[in-house]
Amino acid sequence: MHIHGLSVEQALASLNTTAAGLAGPEAARRLAEFGPNHVEEVGREHLLIGFAREFTHFFAIILWIGAALAFLAEHFDPGQGMARLGVAIVGVIIVNGVFSFWQEYKAEKAVAALRQLLPQKVQVLRGGEVTQLLASGLVPGDVVLLAEGDFVPADCRLIETLALRVNTATITGESLPKARTTEASTEDSPVYARNLVLAGTSVVSGEARAVVYATGMRTEFGRIAHLTQTAGTGSSPLQREIARLSRIVAVLATGMGVVLYFVGQAVGLPPLENLLFAIGIIVANVPEGLLPTVTLSLAMATQRMARRNALVRHLPAVEALGSTTTICCDKTGTLTQNRMSVQRLWLGGGFLDVGDLAGQARLREDNRELFANAAFCHNLKIVEANGRHKLLGDPMEAALASIGRQMTGELAAYRRIDEIPFDTDRKRMSVLCATPRGRMLYCKGAPETVIAACGHVQFDAGLVPLDPVVRTRLLAAQRQMAEAGLRVLAFAHVAVPDGMPGEEHGMILSGLVGLEDPPRPEVPEAVARCATAGIRIIMVTGDHPQTALAIARRIGMVKTENPMVISGDQLRSISPAQLQLALDAKEIIFARVAAEQKMLIVQALQKKGEIVAVTGDGVNDAPALKTADIGIAMGIGGTDVAKEAADLILLDDNFASIVAAIEEGRAVFDNIRKFLTYILSSNIPELVPYLAFVLFRIPLPLTIIQILAVDLGTDMLPALALGAEKPDPGVMQRPPRARHERLLSWSLLARAYLFLGVLEAAAAMAVFFVVLNAAGWTWGVNLDRTDPLYLQATSACLATIVVMQMMNVVLCRHPSKSAFALGLFGNRYILMGLAAELAVILFIIYTPPGQWLFGTAAIGAEVWLLALVGAALMWALEEMRKAWLRRRLSP
Ligand code: ATP
Repeated sequence: MHIHGLSVEQALASLNTTAAGLAGPEAARRLAEFGPNHVEEVGREHLLIGFAREFTHFFAIILWIGAALAFLAEHFDPGQGMARLGVAIVGVIIVNGVFSFWQEYKAEKAVAALRQLLPQKVQVLRGGEVTQLLASGLVPGDVVLLAEGDFVPADCRLIETLALRVNTATITGESLPKARTTEASTEDSPVYARNLVLAGTSVVSGEARAVVYATGMRTEFGRIAHLTQTAGTGSSPLQREIARLSRIVAVLATGMGVVLYFVGQAVGLPPLENLLFAIGIIVANVPEGLLPTVTLSLAMATQRMARRNALVRHLPAVEALGSTTTICCDKTGTLTQNRMSVQRLWLGGGFLDVGDLAGQARLREDNRELFANAAFCHNLKIVEANGRHKLLGDPMEAALASIGRQMTGELAAYRRIDEIPFDTDRKRMSVLCATPRGRMLYCKGAPETVIAACGHVQFDAGLVPLDPVVRTRLLAAQRQMAEAGLRVLAFAHVAVPDGMPGEEHGMILSGLVGLEDPPRPEVPEAVARCATAGIRIIMVTGDHPQTALAIARRIGMVKTENPMVISGDQLRSISPAQLQLALDAKEIIFARVAAEQKMLIVQALQKKGEIVAVTGDGVNDAPALKTADIGIAMGIGGTDVAKEAADLILLDDNFASIVAAIEEGRAVFDNIRKFLTYILSSNIPELVPYLAFVLFRIPLPLTIIQILAVDLGTDMLPALALGAEKPDPGVMQRPPRARHERLLSWSLLARAYLFLGVLEAAAAMAVFFVVLNAAGWTWGVNLDRTDPLYLQATSACLATIVVMQMMNVVLCRHPSKSAFALGLFGNRYILMGLAAELAVILFIIYTPPGQWLFGTAAIGAEVWLLALVGAALMWALEEMRKAWLRRRLSP
């Protein structure tokens, strides 16, 4: 019989386990037998297919055509070296394909490695004790504890439930939560059995204990894994823009090649030379390695973000982060430390500081109910560790429970019977307890919701009806604590006669408790950085407006006298248009907001054209996390469901990490511009020689193979190094990038093509002529392709371009800052790239195989010196341009 047809006892027995879980050694044995609880990835594209794609994309096809043309030319007119060109082009396609494949593979690995950083953890009973394990360590027979927001880690049979509801959408496609209980089921299919929870589904609310009966690929989820593998692929707008851009450039280059071919025909160039010329134009201008370089630099950014405790789940998020304009942030745990401690109480009609508590024996009698309430009304797990009790769970509840336990002497005499769970709408929770004085309902929560359900208040002199006067006193007390930044909770109790259900009604208010949760020390600085970076922070909290405001002031989020504070109730009563208008206020706080309302705020901000990042941790936050441009989940305090919905996970739950991630996101965009400038610059010195060749009938200064040597040899690693530049300190001192700001701006094109490129071309041509003239060449003399002088002159041209590009790497590290200001050692990849560049050019010019393939010959020291002079000149001119630009930019 299937496990869901059995009773709880039978089910446990059938798995040879007990409700206290397996013993450690037995679990280890089963792990060896059944293997780890993994769902293997299926349906992934085979590596070979990805590899093949690198040779069949648009650029590759253009290059294949070029190679075919060269072989065709060799066929009709043998002996002109065209076959060698064909071979070289094929070589280039291979080198380029392998390099691109390597970059993409590395990018994919980097992203996959990030996923490993945050493995799913589960609470398991082993030998009767609650321990935390990696989900992969589960075996059949394990007893797991499930709570709201958890992903179910394996297929389980429920053995104990409390108002459990699960979302089974991943398995059944139904999105409405389903109730689950422990009773035996007559259902045929395990998918619909009401006493099972299956791997891959999630707990929407309630709690449960369940025994694992299937793990890994044996789960229902494992069987249909291909349906649900939601790896964050999908290309980002940036990648799409690059792809589009490359395609346009390639089409333009091809068009230009064709046009110039006909021009060559018209001026009477020999057809073969003319063909060579056309291929040269095309190859010189097609940005071959752009897309993989962009992808890899995005992936490298994710690694840098991870080092700063921000885990990116989807590559496109890197980019959206860089343009974030507004962060909606909750308070507890993100802005604050979530280290709660009870500071003040309002008890029996007056305030009492915690320091004074211990000495007051009188308290124990009169206010017993408040402390019993604090000790029992919670959802903590109490674990024994070396003879001491540890309270696991919500830090606020832990703070309350520990003070409650300290003040109540008769813990053993209490037993918890039932619970009315907390939710962010009701903002309170209750438990029903059996106590020495009969059954009691203990309720705690936000004061306004608890007071509303009370009829009396416990004063020192006895019970007092909760009339308007008393209510005003209570609210004043609450206000006073909130204004000091304390979170205030109200406690109430009511006796529940046997046989009656526990209801939160007609209760006695036992007192108010003020808890301190200090801001994280790094937050004020991060908030200030957002201000200079033009990013607005909007606090969206479930806490009381006054408390929220006090904290906001303390961290520097609110500086004006009268910031806009909008409560959840107000939010319910205003129209979307009104909300949009309200969002114009400079400083805004949303307080006493339910998680569901976050989405309204996000949507309103988006309608105003903002790029919104929003934080969240609970199940109810998931819709807002999905809607926002950047959903941010908490790595420590967040539920599995929130993490799954998010684009970014904070490993340390810290607001400052969001700001760090934004900084990296902005840097990526800058870096891509840096290497675009670098790559585009060299197109001009590659193009000019051909124009000069056809227009002035001089020997061709740079051959096609040599162009390829620059584009796909010497340029590649330095470009990658520019993609790995660290964020510039100035990156957070300017406003966010406009939503539609293009990557390729006119100023970038002008700098690359009209300035740097022209300087490089001038230097290369000058050195070419110096070498020719020194050997007595005069205008109009034709040189044979194998003439030693010709070989030396083209080598000199090539060497000069490479030396200029080496200088260019240093210049491209910043669009306006002096190369002096940056220092040379900030990015070791730059040094590695330069070394590689030098090695490649020396190989090409000084080794026999290099000389054979690229048609070069050894050149003398004076040529290098000349090239260096050219580079120094470019440096000086670029420094002058930057200085001029800085002066223009500074106010
Ligand atoms: P943030 O949204 O900034 O994280 P928060 O933790 O206050 O703040 P919620 O979790 O929505 O937000 O809580 C809202 C309110 O509900 C709290 O201010 C508190 O008054 C009350 N509350 C929170 N947790 C509990 C709990 N476990 N039991 C009873 N009341 C609670």
